[in-house]
Amino acid sequence: MGYQSVNPFDGKLLQTFVELSDAQLEAKIATATACFESWKHKSYAERAVIVNKAAAIMHDRADELAHIMTLEMGKRINEARGEVEFSSNILAYYAKNAAKFLAPEELHPVIGDAHMESTPIGVIFGVEPWNFPYYQLARVAGPHLMAGNVLMVKHAGCVPQCAIAFEKIWIEAGGPVGLYTNLLITHEQTETVIDDPRIKGVALTGSVAAGRSIAARAGQNLKPSSMELGGSDAFIVLDDADLDHTVKWAVWGRMYNGGQTCCAAKRFIVVEALADKFLERFKAALGALKAGDPLDEATTLGPLSTEAALVQLLEQVKVAVAHGAKVVLGGKRIDRPGSFMQPTILTDVKPGNPAFRDEFFGPVAMFFRVKNEDEAIALANDSDFGLGGSVFTKDIARGKRVASRVETGMMFINNISWSDAELPFGGIKDSGYGRELGDMGIQEFVNKKLVRYA
Ligand code: NDP
Repeated sequence: MGYQSVNPFDGKLLQTFVELSDAQLEAKIATATACFESWKHKSYAERAVIVNKAAAIMHDRADELAHIMTLEMGKRINEARGEVEFSSNILAYYAKNAAKFLAPEELHPVIGDAHMESTPIGVIFGVEPWNFPYYQLARVAGPHLMAGNVLMVKHAGCVPQCAIAFEKIWIEAGGPVGLYTNLLITHEQTETVIDDPRIKGVALTGSVAAGRSIAARAGQNLKPSSMELGGSDAFIVLDDADLDHTVKWAVWGRMYNGGQTCCAAKRFIVVEALADKFLERFKAALGALKAGDPLDEATTLGPLSTEAALVQLLEQVKVAVAHGAKVVLGGKRIDRPGSFMQPTILTDVKPGNPAFRDEFFGPVAMFFRVKNEDEAIALANDSDFGLGGSVFTKDIARGKRVASRVETGMMFINNISWSDAELPFGGIKDSGYGRELGDMGIQEFVNKKLVRYA
């Protein structure tokens, strides 16, 4: 399919882009490699000048950058602006904190002294998805560039304009040629890049299928990798939850970004005592969302990112129903132009139904009724994924106990799974490995070198 920018609000083709030839790709890898040789010797303060400038450009151009995103993948404009600001903050966060995070660490062996130092390793290759077209890029650019590495990124096929806009920011920020390189390349060329000895690490955010393929390739080459993959986060509602607060976050958790978020709340697990009331209110709130132009601030339901994403989601719902699930809300495409899906709630999804283990990457919620806290935890853990999750209760100590027992990389009490520049983000099981953001995010692709002195 290649790189195509299509507006999912009306299906209009905006622009197509030609992929790089093998010779062009080779030249770009050579340029990035040469850039690393000087960038690695820059001080943190020197690197921070460029990274802070990029952050400022994102901030200043938030409207323009958000507009591109909304046109290209349908994110509602308010959310798009928020994403650009968040991306800017991530860059600024690493510009400010990298030196502290990577400062040599004194060690105290029985004999003599030692320290660990963190040194950059070279050209890092990122493969990124469309759902947060700038945030995903900032999440790798901020830490890895500040660590002294340089970055090459293959972005998703449906967001080439965002990919190109982000690359331009680095040039405008005064970054040396090769510091940040956008690669419009095929899957085959992606393998060529991973195999190339000048590439020293691979970071993917994407589906489990992409994770298996790219992690295997990195593994064959003995290259470090980080995998931020899918999720099917549980949203646990205990009997003492505040229902107003809980329903508000349930809607947000499922519907933010059109439901196309890896750490979205996808499985709503509610104890018997509140189940009926929760379902009734959740249904009413989702049913009240109004489809419209994502560029219009009044719109509360945007399109999915692409027509293909909608077709896939509708097919998943069909399969779920064929295996016994009941549709208590929505379930269909919205009868209007564009790739719009009705907000949907499925009940009666039992083990054995493919939906029970699937991730729904769009506005489809699965609702489960359980007897008590223990049953809620057991159901939450009965998943191949382990990204994030939430628990709603007025008793924070109880919330912490439940959070400890849920097998994921992140848990949130009385809130939805979310990310902050300061907090490590990532999962376990099929949700991948490694962490992005926070202190841990900058440690993924550095050489932790031991230096010992007697
Ligand atoms: P994909 O895995 O299809 O795409 C993600 C990126 O990987 C794209 O750039 C894509 O390129 C590329 N890609 C996919 N397969 C290959 C391959 N075999 N070789 C080389 N490159 C490949 O994911 P989706 O676009 O479907 O994105 C949604 C998925 O990503 C969901 O499962 C979601 O949960 C997960 N995700 C995880 C996040 C996290 O932080 N854990 C965050 C966001 C999404 P191309 O577009 O050209 O195919």
